[in-house]
Amino acid sequence: MSKKVVIIGGGIIGLSTAYFLLKEGHDVTVIDQSNISSGASFVNAGFISPSHIIPLAAPGVVSTGIKMMFNSASPFYIKPRFNVDLFKWLWKFNKSATEKNVEYASSIIKDLNYFSLQLFQEMKENNVFDFHIEKKGLLMAYQTSKFEDKEGCLAEFSKRKGLLVKHINKEKLKEMEPEIAAKGAFYYLDDAHTTPDDFMRGMQKYLETQGVTFLVNEKVIDFEQSSSRITHVVTNKNEVSCDEFVVAAGSWSPLIAKKLGVKLLVQAGKGYRINLHRETGINYPTILAELNTAVSPMDGFTRFGGTMEIAGINSGINKIRVQKIAKNAKMFYPNISITENEMSNVACGLRPISPDGLPFIGRSKKLKNAYFATGHGMMGWSQGHATGKLISELISDKKTSLNLTPFSIDRFN
Ligand SMILES: Cc1cc2nc3c(=O)[nH]c(=O)nc-3n(C[C@H](O)[C@H](O)[C@H](O)COP(=O)(O)OP(=O)(O)OC[C@H]3O[C@@H](n4cnc5c(N)ncnc54)[C@H](O)[C@@H]3O)c2cc1C
Repeated sequence: MSKKVVIIGGGIIGLSTAYFLLKEGHDVTVIDQSNISSGASFVNAGFISPSHIIPLAAPGVVSTGIKMMFNSASPFYIKPRFNVDLFKWLWKFNKSATEKNVEYASSIIKDLNYFSLQLFQEMKENNVFDFHIEKKGLLMAYQTSKFEDKEGCLAEFSKRKGLLVKHINKEKLKEMEPEIAAKGAFYYLDDAHTTPDDFMRGMQKYLETQGVTFLVNEKVIDFEQSSSRITHVVTNKNEVSCDEFVVAAGSWSPLIAKKLGVKLLVQAGKGYRINLHRETGINYPTILAELNTAVSPMDGFTRFGGTMEIAGINSGINKIRVQKIAKNAKMFYPNISITENEMSNVACGLRPISPDGLPFIGRSKKLKNAYFATGHGMMGWSQGHATGKLISELISDKKTSLNLTPFSIDRFN
């Protein structure tokens, strides 16, 4: 039965959800407070990464975070501030940073990532619209013995979980990536990469031509309710009726959840990207292990991205951190100097981070027709398609492709 579904948020999660709902024959409206041209879904590194199975909340990350809090150029930063939601989030994050959680969450993340990659590939094979995707794998490059050991342990863990990983020595790495100055790398063969800006534009255009309604520059501010069902989504310009609705508003989702009486533990983790629209000679998507910097050869340019700044919802640019990304690039690619002009075109986005590294996907117990799809953190690009598919299955009263219990909206209540 066709339903009228309203999606709040036109990032990768909202658009993927719209795509799969459309395929199920629903009448879909996407509402976004922006004109859908910036933010996390546009600035990300474009990695579709089955390899990224370790949640952010892993042993050691809290102590590292505390040390880094006092370093303004550090890649991981939690801004000290008095905020009850932040305290609650930190408490649950700290409780999740255990070996046990890593073991548990990594298997779930792996299944979600592979499912999503398969859906991305099917979309490409079916020629839904033209977009860039390459399956060249991902290099985890390191310069020091310390990180060779650290990444080696991670590679062994990943192999045990069923991922395809190869060790690449310095000579072989030089053949693959002549510009890099590194001691070696671990090569995750199943990873793919894309060009997010193009994908987002192509996807929105495709959805529009297929009949999805877009209400842009419209902010959802309230809801109308009858018993435990939402009947209308209220924006600053309209009232939109719905049978079902999906909150896919990224880092803003907890604000919307609050209006619905739903507690959602999500913090914004800011990251930056710098694009180099010139020949860099970089061939492979790479993570510079010591520096937590992502490098991605996209369609027509190279992107450097990094930092994780948990500092609330704001779009301020911290120049010191941007310069650090440029310095990191130079350390691994000595022939590449990022210019002031390139740095001045930096952009940032907010990753919606859950405390345990798993997204929230499903319906809240509090309301009959409210679905949530958020909290994907560093993995939202990779997991977008799988999330959209799962939400569309739920709304279409179908058996879901994956068990949704680990993604429960109410798991921290
Ligand atoms: C530097 C960087 C690099 C990254 N690299 C990768 C990567 O390589 N691979 C990967 O898998 N992930 C990566 N990520 C993470 C990924 O980009 C995010 O997880 C993902 O984009 C989140 O998508 P989203 O749709 O949930 O949120 P967003 O893209 O933030 O979209 C949410 C939308 O909701 C709208 N909205 C909010 N509130 C309202 C409201 N009240 N009314 C109407 N609209 C509203 C916003 O305007 C926004 O457009 C990276 C992130 C960053 C910052």
